[in-house]
Amino acid sequence: MGSRASWMLLVAVMFVLGSCTGSRTAVSNTAVVPPVSDLVKPKNVILLIGDGMGLPQITGSMYMEDNKSVFERFNNIGFHKSNSSDNLVTDSAAGATAIASGVKTYNGAIGVNARKESVPTLLEMAEKKNMATGLVASSSITHATPGAFIAHVQSRDDVESIALDFLKTPIDIFIGGGMDFFARRKSDDRDLIAELTTKGYRITDFVNQDISNLDITTTKNIGYFTANGEPLPVSAGRDYLIPATNKAIDFLNERSPNGFFIMIEGSQIDWGGHANDANYVISEMHEFEKVIAAALDFAARDKNTLVIVTGDHETGGFAVQPGSKLNDIKVAFTTKSHTAIMIPVFAQGPGAEAFRGIYENTAIFDKIKAALELN
Ligand SMILES: [Zn+2]
Repeated sequence: MGSRASWMLLVAVMFVLGSCTGSRTAVSNTAVVPPVSDLVKPKNVILLIGDGMGLPQITGSMYMEDNKSVFERFNNIGFHKSNSSDNLVTDSAAGATAIASGVKTYNGAIGVNARKESVPTLLEMAEKKNMATGLVASSSITHATPGAFIAHVQSRDDVESIALDFLKTPIDIFIGGGMDFFARRKSDDRDLIAELTTKGYRITDFVNQDISNLDITTTKNIGYFTANGEPLPVSAGRDYLIPATNKAIDFLNERSPNGFFIMIEGSQIDWGGHANDANYVISEMHEFEKVIAAALDFAARDKNTLVIVTGDHETGGFAVQPGSKLNDIKVAFTTKSHTAIMIPVFAQGPGAEAFRGIYENTAIFDKIKAALELN
């Protein structure tokens, strides 16, 4: 056999091998998860992020609630790999940027990639498509997770710069703490509440307006501040996250014929983990589960809404220990920091099948972008 003939044989063998491998992969993929392009498209997406919420926190919350969990309402479940670009253990800034913008970046980065360049977020892309948008958090609204959906700064600590970026994207509603970073700034003399009002926002706060009476029949955008700095824990009396979720969803649903995108964060599950305080973790989890239930109830009525729930990372190395009983668990922690454990992703509604499987945290961005046909 001449060298030309053997080369052609090699090519033919490689072609056959390649097509076998290719078709086997394709068959197993379609058997488990239909390609995203074939799925029914939702009109709205509600993304719920439990900061510091891994499977241990979900488990502990369930065993402290009579073995019941809101997560049992989901049929489509996956796991994401939470690592950042420079660390197996992510922080909330890199974790949220991965979900909001689809890039692995360094710990501390808000809406910028590993080269510190701005990357567009789901919320900004939804705005470009004339969808209505919202952010709700039980931390300051400038904290890492909500911040990464609207701001582009090199460090999460630069919270006053994160606040400035609320002037650059016409987000329809935001609810959270951190009024000081808008109204009583240290880095400049600007009054961002006055500036937002000039731009057409109706801004109110916890001193002047009870959130349960918040009037959402307005053509203006809405900003509502729940605290000057960081809001209280649930155990100290904070109770706005559930009414805020309902108000924001109802407002956005009325707002735009093109659908809406909202990110709602249960922010303080993480802080309970950092404090190695099991009661703090569980009380925040129980509230967040009611928030998830409210989102699922809306989606069940609406039938056009995809609900996705995940965490950015686990916090505390939380473990339900031997000696635990139903509604009386014993908990241990391995760290006061975050851990690298994979994080569950739950999805319900049109297109939810796409969230099955194991994938990088950045794939959550890809799947939502495809579901809403954003670009
Ligand atoms: Zn944390």
